[in-house]
Amino acid sequence: MSTANYSFAPVALPYAQDALAPVISAETVAFHYGKHLQAYINNLNAALPGSGFEGKSLEEIVKESSGGIFNNAGQVLNHTLYFTQFRPYGKPGAPDAPEGALAKAIERDFGSFEAFKEEFQKKGAGLFGSGWVWLAADAAGKLQITQEQNAGNPVCRGLKPLLTFDVWEHAYYLDYQNRRPDHLSALWNIIDWEVVAGRYAK
Ligand code: MN
Repeated sequence: MSTANYSFAPVALPYAQDALAPVISAETVAFHYGKHLQAYINNLNAALPGSGFEGKSLEEIVKESSGGIFNNAGQVLNHTLYFTQFRPYGKPGAPDAPEGALAKAIERDFGSFEAFKEEFQKKGAGLFGSGWVWLAADAAGKLQITQEQNAGNPVCRGLKPLLTFDVWEHAYYLDYQNRRPDHLSALWNIIDWEVVAGRYAK
């Protein structure tokens, strides 16, 4: 039995593995992307045959599954969104804040970009254990910040995921040890706001 048509692969990184340093070191990218994400993909691909989820999209699997398939599919979706939302540290001309409709929505729903960042960091720092903090939009375009445990993703609440900080220790321990808040506050320096705005516009 061939499962090749139904297997998932890691998303291509849109930057070099050392391009996010010093915010995220090349060593952390090598482990996080090369080992942790790859393990979730291998586990998901191994669990799919006979599961009834073969041929479904990643988002469909996350919305409809539970248990081990959900955990691994969720982590593949989460890391796909996570790794594609960054741009190289110090990239010339890269905006350090959103523009256009996303900027307006952030001001409308959080008061200001600074207030949004503060609440987002606070919710990331305050999430007990492993999980993710998300900026997500409802069907009307209204924004909210959600805290998700473990492999959680706002698609399970009917929301569109826009931006996420991974607060599993594997995302920052090599570079920041126990200093999760320092890691979270540094991440703003490598967000590709054009990617995030593109997700909002879709
Ligand atoms: Mn992770």
